[in-house]
Amino acid sequence: MFYCIAYGCNNKKDRKDCGTKSFFGFPLKNLSLVKTWVKMLRRDNFQATPYSKICSDHFDESCFKYQPFTNRRQLKPGSIPTIFVFSKTTSSRRVLDRCLPTTSTETTGISNEFLSVLFGISDSTVSRNFNYVTSIRNAKLKLLDIFPTKSTVIEYIPLPIRFGNKDIRIVIDCTEFPIQKPSSPVEQQLTFSRYKNTNTLKGMIGITPNGAISFISPLYCGSLSDKQLFIKSKLMDRLEPNDVVMDDKGFLIAEELESIDCKLQYPIFLKDKIRYN
Ligand SMILES: [Zn+2]
Repeated sequence: MFYCIAYGCNNKKDRKDCGTKSFFGFPLKNLSLVKTWVKMLRRDNFQATPYSKICSDHFDESCFKYQPFTNRRQLKPGSIPTIFVFSKTTSSRRVLDRCLPTTSTETTGISNEFLSVLFGISDSTVSRNFNYVTSIRNAKLKLLDIFPTKSTVIEYIPLPIRFGNKDIRIVIDCTEFPIQKPSSPVEQQLTFSRYKNTNTLKGMIGITPNGAISFISPLYCGSLSDKQLFIKSKLMDRLEPNDVVMDDKGFLIAEELESIDCKLQYPIFLKDKIRYN
């Protein structure tokens, strides 16, 4: 099945009302022409593939020639798509069209297949929208500094912890996300987590004593140890002398913390427990 990739165009090959439309692939053998097509489409960073199609609605009639007998529409060499609708309402609607299925996935966890039926779009559009919205949100949210100052942490520290140790700045733990097995053996080895017995990406999350997320590390390969991940995450750059870091005995980072005049502390209920490897 083909979809027209032009903005605001809903034509696809299998629709009955599109019977008279033709779908043309990009002139991939002529890179400068491909660039011109992409420019006309106003889609920056668009990578044309053999599957990217534009429908005949976007070409002037003078671009076509017709096959004898079959009367099939063909593009004359060097043709450029010139007919598009780039209205403001189209673009703002498109943003909404993209956000809604994404938030639905996140809040309800329903499948792409179901969303595609619900919103009348294809599976691939659902996942393309998801990637688009997530990457934009990531770029925006990344700019926020969520690491609170020490005085803010102390201000909101719950009473029982305040009496225990008011210097607790952050409680950390690692989390792993299973991923598809990479095809390269080196990447397979790098991402293989013995703890989860599968290929994963691993990150570290930190919360303040009152439970607010205050630190999110980048994701690293699953084979990395908690200690290596802690060092790579550069959380130490954010700590101040006398800060206390709390963890569940998985991190062997007491020495690293001492080197910057900070301390490691385990929760009281884990004090006499042995650490599992
Ligand atoms: Zn079209």
